[in-house]
Amino acid sequence: MNNGNFFKHKDSYKYDGELSALIWKIFNFPRYRLITLPTPLEKTSNISKDLGIRLYIKRDDVMELALGGNKVRKLEFILADALAKGCDTLITRGAFHSNHARLTAAAARKAGLDMYLVLTPPGSPDLQGNILLNKLLGAKMVHVKDHTEADKVMQELADKLKAQGKKPYIIPAGGASPHGVLGYIYASLEIMQQLYTIEEKPRYIVLATGTGTTQAGLLLGLKLLGVDYVEVVGICVSMSSDETRNRVYKLIQDTINLLNIDMKINYSDIIVYGDYLFGGYGEVTSEVVNSMKYAALKEGLILDPVYTAKAMYGLIDLVKRKYIEKGSTVVFLHTGGTPIPFQLSKIIEKYL
Ligand SMILES: *Cc1c(COP(=O)(O)O)cnc(C)c1O
Repeated sequence: MNNGNFFKHKDSYKYDGELSALIWKIFNFPRYRLITLPTPLEKTSNISKDLGIRLYIKRDDVMELALGGNKVRKLEFILADALAKGCDTLITRGAFHSNHARLTAAAARKAGLDMYLVLTPPGSPDLQGNILLNKLLGAKMVHVKDHTEADKVMQELADKLKAQGKKPYIIPAGGASPHGVLGYIYASLEIMQQLYTIEEKPRYIVLATGTGTTQAGLLLGLKLLGVDYVEVVGICVSMSSDETRNRVYKLIQDTINLLNIDMKINYSDIIVYGDYLFGGYGEVTSEVVNSMKYAALKEGLILDPVYTAKAMYGLIDLVKRKYIEKGSTVVFLHTGGTPIPFQLSKIIEKYL
């Protein structure tokens, strides 16, 4: 990393010592290692041919901790922060099918911490998918009716634990904190390095965007590298495009403050599409299941109906709408969600 050529791309490259120092700062930020990096970068042949693009899949669903997913990268930095503050108990919230909740439980176990998961409905009472894994991980699950109540319950739990002499650490839903963003700043360096090694120059990185943490990290990371030719395209899976853009912007500002760096991301650089929600967060329609089938039949690739299948639908549609240029190199970030098809099998079955 002390050699400026590492991340350089032949025809578009800005290097100066200051950027290099910032990147070094990210590498040296306290990180509790949960997995082996890098995750694989997979080339697709059938989808590439079908869509007329060069499609790579960044396999962040392939990680050794509890079936993996994007939350693991965020948790590496969040956990390091919690441990540095001497905390002994993690508290977080999420939907009934939350990957973040499951991975927080697993990460907590690995680090020897206790954990509480505050979960919101709707959800099937079946002991399946993430709920099954939470049980297996011995997570203390509290079920509440909505987000507002969940935030209140997390605070009450923290107060109660403090009164008992414990040191709780509240992680926002989805790991949406500046420390969480660091996980994907790191990932953006990794992705660019992998592509550089195989002499590919990406034009787009497409991903499912929920809280916006992952997208904020990728945007900031590319900016730190001086890469200005990649569009990070977020496909909204939970909020409207305006709300999502605001969240991404806010997370970027908070992270810039945490790193204490002089950097600016324009609001207009945050590209999000809100056209692929299919009824909203966690809703499954025939289009969503068809997208799962498409990936499975073309590449043997398993997507989940809450996040990655909607993102893949968006990617395909954006190629059809000519927003994504034919012939361009596209990276699809597979953010995980492996247990969700099992948890939502009854709904998926309707459209199979
Ligand atoms: C949480 C999650 C996302 C969304 O990530 P954000 O950083 O919250 O935008 C996407 N895909 C999967 C599988 C997830 O679990």
